[in-house]
Amino acid sequence: MSERATHGKTPTVGAPATNRDVHSQDVATDSHPGSTPLSRTVLIALLAVAVMATAATTTARAAKTGTRASTSTTAGLKKATWGANITASYGSGTIRLRSNGIPNHAMLAQYALPDNGVMVPTAATAHAGSNPTIAQNIDFTLPTVPAWSATTTIAPMGAIGLMISGAVLFNPYEGDGGTVAMANNFTVTGSDGTKVPFVDACSGHPTPQGMYHYHGLPACVTAEVDTGKGPSHLIGIAFDGYPIYGDRNAKGAKVPASKLDRCNGITSATPEFPKGIYHYVLPGTATATSSIRCFHGKVSASLMTRLPRMTIAMMGGTSTAHHPIGTSARALVCDLRMPAAS
Ligand SMILES: [Zn+2]
Repeated sequence: MSERATHGKTPTVGAPATNRDVHSQDVATDSHPGSTPLSRTVLIALLAVAVMATAATTTARAAKTGTRASTSTTAGLKKATWGANITASYGSGTIRLRSNGIPNHAMLAQYALPDNGVMVPTAATAHAGSNPTIAQNIDFTLPTVPAWSATTTIAPMGAIGLMISGAVLFNPYEGDGGTVAMANNFTVTGSDGTKVPFVDACSGHPTPQGMYHYHGLPACVTAEVDTGKGPSHLIGIAFDGYPIYGDRNAKGAKVPASKLDRCNGITSATPEFPKGIYHYVLPGTATATSSIRCFHGKVSASLMTRLPRMTIAMMGGTSTAHHPIGTSARALVCDLRMPAAS
């Protein structure tokens, strides 16, 4: 499968760690028995310059990421408009969200579903079928003090966050880990002669096993909380605890994908967090930027490791259905680090 090919080749060493390694090597050289007083002086001077440079870098980073500091999201989350099908309860530094997974907005009567054995369907390998969406047992406990991490974590297949509609968000990709769902939309002819799409107007669709999910900006979810030209309001929460928004900033201007980091994140003010917060944006694109590809906050290992199991159950244990989870995806759980976006 291409998931490993897509994600696995990314190196894991970030620049800050490399700098620290160089510094510690300098110190080790300085204490070498062969050092002369002169070389020691030069090395100490070089070390001082390096330390100053590092301090300047750290200061700049702190200024840039100031609002990414660990602050509680609880007050902002309580301001959000969670669907009636969601039960939210707050613990010590956590929010527990339970839902039946069925979106609180209209779905289509029929969807284009992959033919048996097809992983990523096209109009030639799909058929119109009744909407298979069924109730799920969504139960996520997420941090309310998100922990910013310079190292990012790949957003896996399956659920990566919960939206205020009660349905889950997936990453941009179809079951092969490389085909962008929003770029792969098509229609087939339904039993009533109408055109039936693969992905609906809300950037969502059900798996054949019945888990409705989004791959991009869900217009019918933003419509629940936003006005036409106003700012985007909170529409979801990702597994690292950072909130998810639509494509407009606090002033109502469109946020282009080019302004986002590699995880679709940005730090700015929002209606729920007027002092600014790191958050994810769904920019309404039909590319890999359509949904969250990585987390910039730490994600609970238990949450990540339970995903494949949950998804395998969701898939009925098959390996050929839409959004399957196979051995490569399981391996991803042990190989989730990639360098920061900076
Ligand atoms: Zn999908």
